[in-house]
Amino acid sequence: MSRPLGWTRLVLTVGVLGSVPVAAHSVQIPALPGSPRVPVLPLKEAPPRAALPAPEPIGDSIYPALGQRGLDVLHYDVTLHIDRPGTRGLRGVALLTLTSTRPLDTVSLDFLGPTVQDVRWNGRPVPWQQDETAAKLRLSPPTPLRPGQEAQVTVRYAGQAGVRQDQELGLDLGWVPVTDTAGRPLSNYTLSEPDGTRTFLPVNDHPSDPATFTLHVTVPRGYIVAASGLRGTERVVDEGWEYTFDQAQPIPTYALGLQVNHFQRVDSPAVPVGPGGAAVLRRDYFPDDTTDAVRRPYAQVGEMLRVLSGWFGPFPFPVHGAAVITPRVPALETATLLTMPVASSFERVIVHESAHQWFGDTVVLGDWADVWLNEGFATYAELLWLEAQGDDPAGIAATWYERLRDQGSRPLVATSEAQLFDQSAYLRGALALHALRAAVGDPAFRGFLQGYVREFNRRPVRTPDLLGFAARSLGPVAAMVLRTWVESPTLPPLPALRAPR
Ligand SMILES: [Zn+2]
Repeated sequence: MSRPLGWTRLVLTVGVLGSVPVAAHSVQIPALPGSPRVPVLPLKEAPPRAALPAPEPIGDSIYPALGQRGLDVLHYDVTLHIDRPGTRGLRGVALLTLTSTRPLDTVSLDFLGPTVQDVRWNGRPVPWQQDETAAKLRLSPPTPLRPGQEAQVTVRYAGQAGVRQDQELGLDLGWVPVTDTAGRPLSNYTLSEPDGTRTFLPVNDHPSDPATFTLHVTVPRGYIVAASGLRGTERVVDEGWEYTFDQAQPIPTYALGLQVNHFQRVDSPAVPVGPGGAAVLRRDYFPDDTTDAVRRPYAQVGEMLRVLSGWFGPFPFPVHGAAVITPRVPALETATLLTMPVASSFERVIVHESAHQWFGDTVVLGDWADVWLNEGFATYAELLWLEAQGDDPAGIAATWYERLRDQGSRPLVATSEAQLFDQSAYLRGALALHALRAAVGDPAFRGFLQGYVREFNRRPVRTPDLLGFAARSLGPVAAMVLRTWVESPTLPPLPALRAPR
């Protein structure tokens, strides 16, 4: 979309007025893409900001405040203006297409971001409340949203992106500025698992509600935007360059990747690993000064996708690659565009994050307690890759097993935030799959993995769903092997793989 007319005036007017109702000021509200043209509206007729009731959240067992039960966001069409990369400043318009599975008389979005200026329901102003304490943006539709009914919510906001510090990971999540040692602004990256996207977008911020995204991001000239999805138009606008991306397959909100830097984009040959052998496009983004040593493992991504799709089935997105960033943070499986720190730019980490494109980004979590369903599968992908390169899988499994035996492990469903990304989620989760593979043999294991991806494609999955699927597809004996690894308070014995036939 083009830069909305009247933007500056709206920002200034509302910014000066703040929350004090002032009579007889009129504001020119520009039309938004996909929404009806909005009439000129005297502010005194705008519905007041109101204290609205807090609807029931999704009920996640680790993050109980996230999301709204019954709310189903289908699409986020997001316009962002990043006037000064390397700071938290941003301006945005988010146009959400949403529906519900139960009657909703209040809609509640997770939002920790800049100051909200205007909220509309199908183009009409509605009462709303930005509750900064609860990190929610609530709005009251003219009539309750009925199950299956679709509506469009427009949120206009500007100011400073929110701060979400994850105490467990010791990290800033969400929209994060990067400065040089003298504090001069350089770039921005996003790192949003589990709930950082709400620092810059109003979202139903839970993996059980995946959605599609269209992004229009404007940055000053010289900067490049890298984001999830297929690249659309890139064009000169008044403030610099506008980049458009279309993420047409639903993904969890935390899996939205968005990076702003002085990047070089490197396109590589497409890989025929999509459904029916469809070509998957390949592009990676490297900061200008990236060394050859850091770039080198990305040349292997095509081969990685061939190996992984041989086990997991067709690659679930039309494009894949990575954006390399310089801060020392964990790598993240952002959909179609891995977020890859320089310090993590190794084959094994790239394989791990690529495997999450199936497990996490396509088969989505129903609850954060089941995060091993992401991490165990992605970790096992590392073994499958190394095995394809000639390494001994038994040796890798034995190393993992020793580490768990020495340092302790727990049943796989997490009961606290501290457990989410511990070594049990990764290593014991991976060994649970290894034990299942040992029990059923490679052909049945391969069929199980591919069937699981098909069965739970964009459907929130919990651990009992996986166990039920194992029982249906592999029988009760194999399902019991998996269940023992999931539930046993002690570490089950490590089985040996059958000799390959
Ligand atoms: Zn992972």
